[in-house]
Amino acid sequence: MNFASIDNKIEALEECLVTSLPVEADEKLHVGVDLGTAYIVVVVLNSCKQPVACAMEFAQVIKDGLVVDYLGATTITRKLVKQLEKQLGRELTHAAIAVPPGTSAKDSNTHRFVVEGAGLEVTAILDEPTAANAVLGLQDGVIVDIGGGTTGLSIFEDGKVVHVADEATGGTHVSLVLAGSYGISFEEAEALKKQNKRHGEILPIVRPVVQKMASIVKRHLAGRKVSAIHLVGGTCCLGEMEKVMQSEIGIPVHKPANPFLVTPLGIALNCAA
Ligand code: ATP
Repeated sequence: MNFASIDNKIEALEECLVTSLPVEADEKLHVGVDLGTAYIVVVVLNSCKQPVACAMEFAQVIKDGLVVDYLGATTITRKLVKQLEKQLGRELTHAAIAVPPGTSAKDSNTHRFVVEGAGLEVTAILDEPTAANAVLGLQDGVIVDIGGGTTGLSIFEDGKVVHVADEATGGTHVSLVLAGSYGISFEEAEALKKQNKRHGEILPIVRPVVQKMASIVKRHLAGRKVSAIHLVGGTCCLGEMEKVMQSEIGIPVHKPANPFLVTPLGIALNCAA
Protein backbone atom coordinates (compact mmCIF):
# COMPACT_ATOMS: atom_id res chain seq x y z
CA MET A 1 0.00 0.00 0.00
CA ASN A 2 1.31 3.44 -0.95
CA PHE A 3 0.74 5.36 2.29
CA ALA A 4 2.35 8.56 0.98
CA SER A 5 0.03 8.72 -2.03
CA ILE A 6 -3.03 8.14 0.19
CA ASP A 7 -1.87 10.88 2.57
CA ASN A 8 -1.31 13.27 -0.35
CA LYS A 9 -4.87 12.76 -1.59
CA ILE A 10 -6.35 13.32 1.86
CA GLU A 11 -4.17 16.35 2.53
CA ALA A 12 -5.32 17.84 -0.79
CA LEU A 13 -8.92 17.38 0.32
CA GLU A 14 -8.16 18.89 3.74
CA GLU A 15 -6.80 22.01 2.03
CA CYS A 16 -10.10 22.33 0.15
CA LEU A 17 -11.87 22.81 3.47
CA VAL A 18 -10.08 26.15 3.61
CA THR A 19 -9.79 27.13 -0.06
CA SER A 20 -11.70 25.67 -2.99
CA LEU A 21 -9.94 25.31 -6.34
CA PRO A 22 -11.12 26.62 -9.73
CA VAL A 23 -13.08 24.37 -12.10
CA GLU A 24 -14.02 24.72 -15.77
CA ALA A 25 -17.57 25.78 -16.66
CA ASP A 26 -18.31 22.49 -18.46
CA GLU A 27 -16.14 20.14 -16.40
CA LYS A 28 -17.73 16.99 -14.90
CA LEU A 29 -17.79 17.19 -11.13
CA HIS A 30 -18.03 14.23 -8.74
CA VAL A 31 -19.80 14.79 -5.43
CA GLY A 32 -19.89 12.65 -2.30
CA VAL A 33 -22.23 13.25 0.62
CA ASP A 34 -21.41 11.57 3.93
CA LEU A 35 -24.33 11.68 6.37
CA GLY A 36 -22.73 10.71 9.67
CA THR A 37 -23.73 10.51 13.32
CA ALA A 38 -21.64 13.55 14.14
CA TYR A 39 -20.99 15.34 10.83
CA ILE A 40 -22.43 15.89 7.38
CA VAL A 41 -19.58 16.21 4.89
CA VAL A 42 -19.86 17.14 1.21
CA VAL A 43 -16.85 16.60 -1.08
CA VAL A 44 -16.46 17.79 -4.68
CA LEU A 45 -13.86 16.34 -7.06
CA ASN A 46 -12.99 17.64 -10.53
CA SER A 47 -13.05 15.60 -13.75
CA CYS A 48 -9.62 14.14 -12.86
CA LYS A 49 -11.09 13.08 -9.48
CA GLN A 50 -8.89 15.58 -7.63
CA PRO A 51 -10.49 17.39 -4.65
CA VAL A 52 -11.65 20.93 -5.43
CA ALA A 53 -14.04 21.76 -2.58
CA CYS A 54 -15.24 20.40 0.73
CA ALA A 55 -17.66 21.58 3.41
CA MET A 56 -18.91 20.04 6.62
CA GLU A 57 -21.10 20.75 9.59
CA PHE A 58 -21.61 19.15 13.00
CA ALA A 59 -25.10 17.62 12.98
CA GLN A 60 -26.98 15.20 15.18
CA VAL A 61 -29.52 14.11 12.59
CA ILE A 62 -28.39 10.50 12.06
CA LYS A 63 -28.29 7.80 14.76
CA ASP A 64 -27.03 4.25 14.32
CA GLY A 65 -26.99 4.84 10.57
CA LEU A 66 -30.64 5.94 10.49
CA VAL A 67 -31.94 9.38 9.64
CA VAL A 68 -33.67 10.59 12.83
CA ASP A 69 -34.18 14.23 11.80
CA TYR A 70 -35.12 14.26 8.13
CA LEU A 71 -35.78 17.99 7.91
CA GLY A 72 -32.58 18.87 9.80
CA ALA A 73 -30.48 16.54 7.61
CA THR A 74 -31.96 17.96 4.40
CA THR A 75 -31.60 21.55 5.54
CA ILE A 76 -27.93 21.17 6.48
CA THR A 77 -27.07 19.20 3.34
CA ARG A 78 -28.79 21.79 1.15
CA LYS A 79 -26.92 24.58 2.94
CA LEU A 80 -23.55 22.85 2.40
CA VAL A 81 -24.35 22.18 -1.28
CA LYS A 82 -25.35 25.82 -1.83
CA GLN A 83 -22.17 27.01 -0.10
CA LEU A 84 -20.01 24.83 -2.36
CA GLU A 85 -21.93 25.88 -5.48
CA LYS A 86 -21.25 29.50 -4.59
CA GLN A 87 -17.54 28.82 -4.00
CA LEU A 88 -17.15 26.93 -7.28
CA GLY A 89 -19.51 29.05 -9.38
CA ARG A 90 -21.07 25.81 -10.59
CA GLU A 91 -24.30 23.94 -9.98
CA LEU A 92 -23.86 20.53 -8.34
CA THR A 93 -26.23 17.97 -9.83
CA HIS A 94 -25.25 14.41 -8.89
CA ALA A 95 -23.83 12.70 -5.80
CA ALA A 96 -22.87 9.35 -4.38
CA ILE A 97 -23.77 8.51 -0.79
CA ALA A 98 -22.85 5.75 1.67
CA VAL A 99 -24.65 3.91 4.44
CA PRO A 100 -23.36 1.54 7.13
CA PRO A 101 -23.11 -2.10 6.00
CA GLY A 102 -26.36 -3.98 6.52
CA THR A 103 -28.60 -0.89 6.22
CA SER A 104 -31.96 -1.96 4.80
CA ALA A 105 -33.16 -0.76 1.39
CA LYS A 106 -35.86 1.31 3.11
CA ASP A 107 -33.37 3.09 5.39
CA SER A 108 -30.90 3.57 2.52
CA ASN A 109 -33.71 5.24 0.61
CA THR A 110 -34.23 7.71 3.46
CA HIS A 111 -30.55 8.75 3.06
CA ARG A 112 -31.18 9.09 -0.65
CA PHE A 113 -34.28 11.28 -0.07
CA VAL A 114 -32.27 13.60 2.20
CA VAL A 115 -29.68 14.17 -0.53
CA GLU A 116 -32.30 14.44 -3.26
CA GLY A 117 -34.15 16.92 -1.05
CA ALA A 118 -30.95 18.96 -1.09
CA GLY A 119 -31.15 19.07 -4.90
CA LEU A 120 -28.75 16.30 -5.95
CA GLU A 121 -29.56 13.19 -7.96
CA VAL A 122 -28.09 10.14 -6.21
CA THR A 123 -26.05 8.02 -8.63
CA ALA A 124 -24.76 5.40 -6.17
CA ILE A 125 -25.42 4.14 -2.65
CA LEU A 126 -22.30 2.45 -1.31
CA ASP A 127 -21.57 0.77 1.96
CA GLU A 128 -19.13 2.80 4.08
CA PRO A 129 -16.19 0.31 4.12
CA THR A 130 -16.34 0.00 0.34
CA ALA A 131 -16.22 3.80 0.14
CA ALA A 132 -13.22 3.95 2.48
CA ASN A 133 -11.50 1.24 0.46
CA ALA A 134 -11.86 3.28 -2.73
CA VAL A 135 -9.16 5.46 -1.12
CA LEU A 136 -7.10 2.79 0.67
CA GLY A 137 -7.24 0.11 -2.07
CA LEU A 138 -6.92 -2.87 0.28
CA GLN A 139 -6.94 -6.36 -1.13
CA ASP A 140 -6.61 -8.08 2.24
CA GLY A 141 -6.79 -6.58 5.70
CA VAL A 142 -9.14 -4.78 8.02
CA ILE A 143 -10.62 -1.28 7.96
CA VAL A 144 -11.63 -0.08 11.41
CA ASP A 145 -13.98 2.92 11.23
CA ILE A 146 -14.45 4.79 14.50
CA GLY A 147 -16.91 7.63 14.10
CA GLY A 148 -19.21 9.41 16.49
CA GLY A 149 -21.28 6.52 17.80
CA THR A 150 -19.65 3.21 16.99
CA THR A 151 -16.54 1.17 16.29
CA GLY A 152 -17.06 -0.64 13.00
CA LEU A 153 -14.77 -3.09 11.27
CA SER A 154 -14.76 -4.63 7.83
CA ILE A 155 -12.54 -7.52 6.86
CA PHE A 156 -11.41 -7.57 3.22
CA GLU A 157 -10.27 -10.62 1.30
CA ASP A 158 -9.30 -10.30 -2.38
CA GLY A 159 -10.66 -6.74 -2.33
CA LYS A 160 -14.13 -7.81 -1.13
CA VAL A 161 -15.80 -7.30 2.24
CA VAL A 162 -16.19 -10.74 3.87
CA HIS A 163 -17.14 -9.77 7.42
CA VAL A 164 -18.51 -6.64 9.09
CA ALA A 165 -19.27 -5.71 12.67
CA ASP A 166 -20.35 -2.50 14.35
CA GLU A 167 -20.63 -1.95 18.10
CA ALA A 168 -21.39 1.00 20.34
CA THR A 169 -18.33 2.99 21.50
CA GLY A 170 -17.13 5.94 19.48
CA GLY A 171 -16.22 9.60 19.73
CA THR A 172 -19.32 10.43 21.77
CA HIS A 173 -18.05 8.13 24.53
CA VAL A 174 -14.64 9.82 24.38
CA SER A 175 -16.31 13.22 24.83
CA LEU A 176 -18.47 11.99 27.72
CA VAL A 177 -15.39 10.76 29.58
CA LEU A 178 -13.63 14.09 28.96
CA ALA A 179 -16.69 16.05 30.09
CA GLY A 180 -16.79 14.07 33.35
CA SER A 181 -13.07 14.30 33.94
CA TYR A 182 -12.76 18.06 33.33
CA GLY A 183 -16.21 18.96 34.76
CA ILE A 184 -17.25 20.59 31.46
CA SER A 185 -20.26 20.23 29.16
CA PHE A 186 -20.40 17.68 26.35
CA GLU A 187 -20.10 20.47 23.77
CA GLU A 188 -17.01 21.86 25.50
CA ALA A 189 -15.51 18.37 25.61
CA GLU A 190 -16.15 17.95 21.85
CA ALA A 191 -14.34 21.22 21.20
CA LEU A 192 -11.46 20.30 23.51
CA LYS A 193 -11.06 16.91 21.84
CA LYS A 194 -10.67 18.50 18.42
CA GLN A 195 -7.71 20.61 19.55
CA ASN A 196 -5.08 18.25 18.20
CA LYS A 197 -2.33 19.97 20.20
CA ARG A 198 -4.03 18.79 23.41
CA HIS A 199 -4.20 15.13 22.41
CA GLY A 200 -1.11 14.31 24.49
CA GLU A 201 -2.94 15.48 27.60
CA ILE A 202 -6.25 13.85 26.59
CA LEU A 203 -5.08 10.37 25.62
CA PRO A 204 -4.20 9.15 29.15
CA ILE A 205 -7.70 10.19 30.31
CA VAL A 206 -9.56 8.45 27.50
CA ARG A 207 -7.19 5.45 27.19
CA PRO A 208 -9.80 3.04 28.69
CA VAL A 209 -12.28 4.07 25.96
CA VAL A 210 -9.66 3.43 23.27
CA GLN A 211 -8.86 0.09 24.93
CA LYS A 212 -12.56 -0.78 24.77
CA MET A 213 -12.54 0.04 21.02
CA ALA A 214 -9.47 -2.18 20.62
CA SER A 215 -11.17 -5.01 22.54
CA ILE A 216 -14.14 -4.87 20.13
CA VAL A 217 -11.79 -5.17 17.15
CA LYS A 218 -9.70 -7.90 18.77
CA ARG A 219 -12.76 -10.02 19.57
CA HIS A 220 -14.00 -9.90 15.98
CA LEU A 221 -10.56 -10.77 14.61
CA ALA A 222 -10.06 -13.77 16.91
CA GLY A 223 -9.15 -16.86 14.90
CA ARG A 224 -8.59 -14.89 11.67
CA LYS A 225 -5.28 -14.33 9.94
CA VAL A 226 -5.02 -10.55 9.61
CA SER A 227 -1.78 -8.79 8.63
CA ALA A 228 -2.73 -5.13 9.20
CA ILE A 229 -5.44 -2.83 10.49
CA HIS A 230 -6.22 0.52 8.84
CA LEU A 231 -7.95 3.22 10.86
CA VAL A 232 -10.53 5.61 9.41
CA GLY A 233 -13.23 7.82 10.97
CA GLY A 234 -13.03 11.06 12.91
CA THR A 235 -12.27 9.55 16.30
CA CYS A 236 -9.07 8.06 14.90
CA CYS A 237 -7.74 11.64 14.59
CA LEU A 238 -6.93 11.26 18.28
CA GLY A 239 -3.13 11.44 18.31
CA GLU A 240 -1.28 8.21 19.17
CA MET A 241 -4.46 6.18 19.57
CA GLU A 242 -3.10 3.88 16.87
CA LYS A 243 -0.27 2.96 19.27
CA VAL A 244 -2.76 2.00 21.99
CA MET A 245 -4.76 -0.04 19.47
CA GLN A 246 -1.64 -1.80 18.18
CA SER A 247 -0.39 -2.72 21.63
CA GLU A 248 -3.84 -4.02 22.66
CA ILE A 249 -4.53 -6.00 19.48
CA GLY A 250 -0.99 -7.11 18.61
CA ILE A 251 -1.36 -6.45 14.85
CA PRO A 252 0.25 -3.51 12.96
CA VAL A 253 -2.14 -0.53 12.92
CA HIS A 254 -1.85 2.14 10.19
CA LYS A 255 -3.49 5.54 10.22
CA PRO A 256 -3.70 7.92 7.24
CA ALA A 257 -2.99 11.67 7.47
CA ASN A 258 -6.56 12.62 8.31
CA PRO A 259 -8.69 9.53 8.96
CA PHE A 260 -11.82 11.70 9.21
CA LEU A 261 -11.84 12.45 5.48
CA VAL A 262 -11.16 8.96 4.06
CA THR A 263 -14.79 7.81 3.75
CA PRO A 264 -16.13 11.14 2.40
CA LEU A 265 -13.38 11.13 -0.25
CA GLY A 266 -14.13 7.50 -1.14
CA ILE A 267 -17.82 8.30 -1.55
CA ALA A 268 -17.06 11.13 -3.99
CA LEU A 269 -14.68 8.85 -5.95
CA ASN A 270 -17.69 6.63 -6.62
CA CYS A 271 -19.92 9.36 -8.02
CA ALA A 272 -20.65 8.71 -11.67
CA ALA A 273 -21.65 12.18 -12.83
P1 ATP B 1 -20.62 7.36 12.53
O1 ATP B 1 -19.50 6.79 11.68
O2 ATP B 1 -20.64 6.84 13.94
O3 ATP B 1 -21.96 7.38 11.84
P2 ATP B 1 -19.71 9.96 11.73
O4 ATP B 1 -19.68 9.44 10.31
O5 ATP B 1 -20.32 11.29 11.95
O6 ATP B 1 -20.33 8.90 12.72
P3 ATP B 1 -16.99 10.67 11.72
O7 ATP B 1 -17.40 11.87 10.98
O8 ATP B 1 -16.09 9.71 11.07
O9 ATP B 1 -18.26 9.94 12.26
O10 ATP B 1 -16.32 11.09 13.12
C1 ATP B 1 -16.98 11.91 14.03
C2 ATP B 1 -16.30 11.82 15.38
O11 ATP B 1 -14.93 12.18 15.24
C3 ATP B 1 -16.92 12.76 16.40
O12 ATP B 1 -17.06 12.10 17.64
C4 ATP B 1 -15.86 13.88 16.50
O13 ATP B 1 -15.86 14.49 17.76
C5 ATP B 1 -14.59 13.09 16.26
N1 ATP B 1 -13.49 13.93 15.81
C6 ATP B 1 -13.48 14.77 14.74
N2 ATP B 1 -12.30 15.42 14.65
C7 ATP B 1 -11.55 14.98 15.69
C8 ATP B 1 -10.22 15.28 16.15
N3 ATP B 1 -9.44 16.16 15.53
N4 ATP B 1 -9.78 14.63 17.24
C9 ATP B 1 -10.55 13.72 17.88
N5 ATP B 1 -11.80 13.41 17.51
C10 ATP B 1 -12.30 14.03 16.42
